[in-house]
Amino acid sequence: MSTRGKSRVVLMHPILDPGPSILAEAAEVLAYPPDRPLDEESIRQAAEGCVGIVSQLMDPIRETVLSTPGLKIVSNVAVGYDNIDVAAATAHKVMVTNTPGVLDDATSDFAFTLLMATARRIVEADNFTRQGRFRGWAIDMILGADVFGATLGIIGIGRIGRGVAHRAKGFNMRVLYYDPYPLPPEAEQQLGATRVDLNRLLAESDFVSVHTPLTQDTQHLLSTPQFTAMKRTAILINTSRGPVVDEAALVDALMNRLIAGAGLDVYEREPAVHPGLLAMPNVVLAPHIASATVRTRSEMSAMAARNMATAVRGGRPPNLVNPEVKR
Ligand code: NAD
Repeated sequence: MSTRGKSRVVLMHPILDPGPSILAEAAEVLAYPPDRPLDEESIRQAAEGCVGIVSQLMDPIRETVLSTPGLKIVSNVAVGYDNIDVAAATAHKVMVTNTPGVLDDATSDFAFTLLMATARRIVEADNFTRQGRFRGWAIDMILGADVFGATLGIIGIGRIGRGVAHRAKGFNMRVLYYDPYPLPPEAEQQLGATRVDLNRLLAESDFVSVHTPLTQDTQHLLSTPQFTAMKRTAILINTSRGPVVDEAALVDALMNRLIAGAGLDVYEREPAVHPGLLAMPNVVLAPHIASATVRTRSEMSAMAARNMATAVRGGRPPNLVNPEVKR
């Protein structure tokens, strides 16, 4: 508790309006110094005397942080929460919240953007044109892959995977999906999506788009055997989390032409990008911006702030990842 009678919370990084005012109404907000390292020990020191932490995906929130006395809630400004050890949070009775739903459309749009950009070599084409190399129409200039009518394999058919399937309908794509949990038959029918095993998805898809969370089960879900199983003309799209794809194996697969290209928003060791990828023209690279629209980032900020404010006031936040902590 602060001298002003309000509970204290740590804001690890700035968030967008209206997030700050929602937080300030409920708590005394301590901004984490931007020059302070993002390691567990430093975060714990900042969290001493605080009931909550508003975190983002680059913040490691594990045992050292979660065992801080008095800590009640970690509100992550993201739908993914692989930066948080949820089991440790639950053991310490710390609530963990995320921001599901509000970023589905922006992220699905961006997965499709990467798919189109990679298929039609738009970054290469833009560079070519700017460099003054466009000296007239040519029948074999910058030939790409067809999207309309192609087969799309979706790995993980949750909120965002379904959003991508929805967009694929407009491109008359054949949609296959792989997920341990099948969609209800009506949803399969509505999306025109067929559930298959991973091997069949890899073997038959022209585009493979990954939409799973990062867990122990999904780490390196795609590595050399999976790239070998894909079509040599196939393109991989990853807007989930970097470690779901074995990045070194991806570089090898692209170099050995096991697959034709990749569109990536996320990386195994962000913000580092494998140097092999930087040199490849058949790879489109984005700096983890799939949810980065003005509206979406503002809604994520507001949702995370509301989760925090509710918990600070003693309530049960709506987007609780570990509901067993607060019934
Ligand atoms: P969700 O929970 O709605 O869907 C995830 C789906 O993956 C579920 O259907 C689940 O059953 C499935 N799944 C889990 N393990 C699997 C496995 N081993 N194989 C196949 N499928 C598996 O989540 P969501 O809201 O759609 O988000 C998915 C992920 O996308 C998030 O966890 C986050 O990491 C990532 N994401 C990234 C960005 C970005 O900026 N690049 C933005 C939003 C979300």
